[in-house]
Amino acid sequence: MTHVERLDAFMARANARYYATHDPFADFTTAPEISQVFGELLGAWAAVTWAAMGRPAPVALLEFGPGRGTLMADALRAVRAVAPDFAAALHLHLVESSPRLRALQAQRLTATWHDRLETVPAMPTIAIANEFLDALPIRQFVRRGGTWVERWVRDGAFAEQPAALAEEAADDAVLERSDAARDVVASLASRVAQHGGAALLLDYGAAEAGPADTLQALRDGAPADPLQQPGDADLTAHVDFGALREAAEAAGAAVHGPVPQGLFLARLGLFQRTDRLAQGVPPSRASALIEAARRLAEPAGMGRLFKAMAVAHPALGVPAGFEP
Ligand code: SAH
Repeated sequence: MTHVERLDAFMARANARYYATHDPFADFTTAPEISQVFGELLGAWAAVTWAAMGRPAPVALLEFGPGRGTLMADALRAVRAVAPDFAAALHLHLVESSPRLRALQAQRLTATWHDRLETVPAMPTIAIANEFLDALPIRQFVRRGGTWVERWVRDGAFAEQPAALAEEAADDAVLERSDAARDVVASLASRVAQHGGAALLLDYGAAEAGPADTLQALRDGAPADPLQQPGDADLTAHVDFGALREAAEAAGAAVHGPVPQGLFLARLGLFQRTDRLAQGVPPSRASALIEAARRLAEPAGMGRLFKAMAVAHPALGVPAGFEP
């Protein structure tokens, strides 16, 4: 049987199966798995943001796609140490579609789990998403002879169908669009604009995306053909921060950044915190901590392609790490 699917439907199905059946961390490493300081700094960021919001209680602390729960476990440890009143006020909500990863998260975190943002109670909210938006499905359009076609998938190959887009572009240019990422950021934006709070989005992609084919697959830790063996590879695409900014502003929120992740983490105290930790441990562990901090911050590592962007209530002011 020939089965034809638009690329975003194919990607949604493939990733749902992938995250339900695989250990993603066998295929790729994320910032919270590299250094405990990453989650600790984001916990401190959330505590400072809560203070700027006027210390509402209760407040929802919300994470999208928490993976193994490492980021949030590190964040909460820091919050309990530096801001016990925030720790007492917060209700933890996790948006996670994979039953397998939910079970891992439940070993480390006490929370309420959700399939989607819409079921999280409406209240002041501090949200964090690290490498979540890049896993959401995209559409791709290709310029062919002065007109646009859209990529569908049939039998493991692209099939092109006519499409109506207004943009101008050079022939063979590939234009990507993630309706899913825009929708979730627009919903978050209207939530914080209505009920107060901020969302911190960390992911990789250009600040202003030009036309480019960024769809990629990792299978068994190595690059693979994204259209083969759906569900056995992790499919991602670069996040289009420009498009997300538009969606958030249209929904009534203020947008800060994006700033390169290296700069953002350095401003939050990545190196000071790492040095302090390194002083109390054996030399081999100390050099591993310092190496991990460099990997998160250096342009050749995750410091430049990865970015941080905040979506906030317009009256909140500039969140920590986003100072001009
Ligand atoms: N934030 C974690 C994990 C990133 S991997 C870290 O930094 O280590 C992507 C995460 O998003 C996984 O937990 C995956 O199961 C989840 N996810 C992917 N697509 C999703 C969707 N449509 N809805 C909810 N969760 C999703």
